[in-house]
Amino acid sequence: MIVIQYADTLQVMENKSLIVESKTISNASISLQGAMPGKRYDRRTVAVIGGGPAGLMAAEVLSQAGVKVDLYDAMPSVGRKFLMAGKGGMNITHSEPFDKFLSRYGSRQAHIKPLLDAFGSEALRAWVQGLGIGTFIGSSGKVFPADMKAAPLLRAWLHRLRVDGVSFHMRHQWLGWSGRMLRFQTPEGERRASADAVILALGGGSWTRLGSTGAWVPLLAGRGVSVEPLQPSNCGFDVGWSEFFQSRFGGQPLKSVQASFTSWAGLEFCQAGEMIVTADGVEGSLIYKMSALLREQIAETGTATIYLDLVPGKDKQFLVDRVSLPRGKHTMANHLRKRIGIDGVKAGLLREVLSKADFDDPLRLCEAIKALPVKLVAARPIDEAISSAGGVSFEELDERLMIRSLPGVFCAGEMLDWEAPTGGYLLTACFAGGRVAGEGVLAWLQADCNVTAKANR
Ligand SMILES: Cc1cc2nc3c(=O)[nH]c(=O)nc-3n(C[C@H](O)[C@H](O)[C@H](O)COP(=O)(O)OP(=O)(O)OC[C@H]3O[C@@H](n4cnc5c(N)ncnc54)[C@H](O)[C@@H]3O)c2cc1C
Repeated sequence: MIVIQYADTLQVMENKSLIVESKTISNASISLQGAMPGKRYDRRTVAVIGGGPAGLMAAEVLSQAGVKVDLYDAMPSVGRKFLMAGKGGMNITHSEPFDKFLSRYGSRQAHIKPLLDAFGSEALRAWVQGLGIGTFIGSSGKVFPADMKAAPLLRAWLHRLRVDGVSFHMRHQWLGWSGRMLRFQTPEGERRASADAVILALGGGSWTRLGSTGAWVPLLAGRGVSVEPLQPSNCGFDVGWSEFFQSRFGGQPLKSVQASFTSWAGLEFCQAGEMIVTADGVEGSLIYKMSALLREQIAETGTATIYLDLVPGKDKQFLVDRVSLPRGKHTMANHLRKRIGIDGVKAGLLREVLSKADFDDPLRLCEAIKALPVKLVAARPIDEAISSAGGVSFEELDERLMIRSLPGVFCAGEMLDWEAPTGGYLLTACFAGGRVAGEGVLAWLQADCNVTAKANR
């Protein structure tokens, strides 16, 4: 047996040709002695497939523990959706209290809690700061990097990962397994690779042009892993506007409105905010917040009707009093603008939804201004959605995010079966999942080492 002291190991790590040599020697049985903390995993290789926030975070945990990490991604570069998320101002997490934060994950709170316990909003902010990028809390409590952008953060992060020794293999589309080997489609043809453990962080099924295509679903389902169908989340909805309304108001923001909705299961939503009238229907932050409820309602009953309060600050009697004032020669549209300040897209919406008789009746008009029914008929296609619901069922995973039926295969990020509104909750759970999966692999490798060591005694 050849014995290599820790110092020798460091030397071979600095010289790739020697690493190859040491591997050859290792086949002849090597014992690493005097291993320093963090060097326990030398000679262990982990494949991280998917270079979004979840996969990169897993790669960081593993590489910092001394594991050799091969990171594969189908795209020419990593973090494309992360960069897109940074375009309109990178909302990385939220500053609200833990319980409220956790409530954003709806029916999956129990599964997300351990991830946030391990790496929650505060830890994430500290981590961002550790990359040399300050964060600040916006007026709504949302947390942003100092310059609101994703690119500087990603640049600093990739630099750290490279320094830590992560090997990036771009244009490697994972195709599944052949026996224990991982199969990848590359520009040079199919390539196979092996690893001691695998972390899948392949994203959801929206914005496929950024890499997360959901093509992994049949690969895991084919191995008997239960995957809930991917569905649009944080998405717009179709209404079916008239041609006139669509051409006149499509693309216009509907500001300072309050939306209410009660689901077939009795769940209630009522919140003020902003949305956008699109050519097909509605989208925007207020709609995204309700999207899970609306999607489920449409699946259950075929449509979902939301009620819009177009002037949340004013009560109905005030409106009735003002609208009932004599209007002289003014049209009702002019009268509305003068008396209660409703014009533009809000007035157009009233004309679109109400019959002429209701529009001309002050009482019925004011009732509609406070609770205008808008019937949504379908969610927009998943590819347009900010994120997706569905994915690998938590029941398939142990507490380390390892697929129980596929020992050594871990999952993290949006490909798991949870959803959350925008507001930093998506990224936080992806980062946290990546950390937990990375630490899970370390624990699993460690347990595996112990078993091997015992067996060799
Ligand atoms: C427009 C937009 C704005 C957003 N804004 C925000 C925001 O402000 N705040 C927020 O919290 N979240 C936001 N999000 C959501 C957030 O970006 C995602 O939830 C997050 O990126 C998911 O991370 P992930 O690591 O799970 O997957 P992804 O970031 O989707 O990464 C998955 C990776 O896997 C790779 N991959 C997929 N399949 C394969 C395969 N078969 N083989 C190899 N590689 C593969 C992909 O190329 C990709 O690089 C936004 C999303 C969009 C689209």
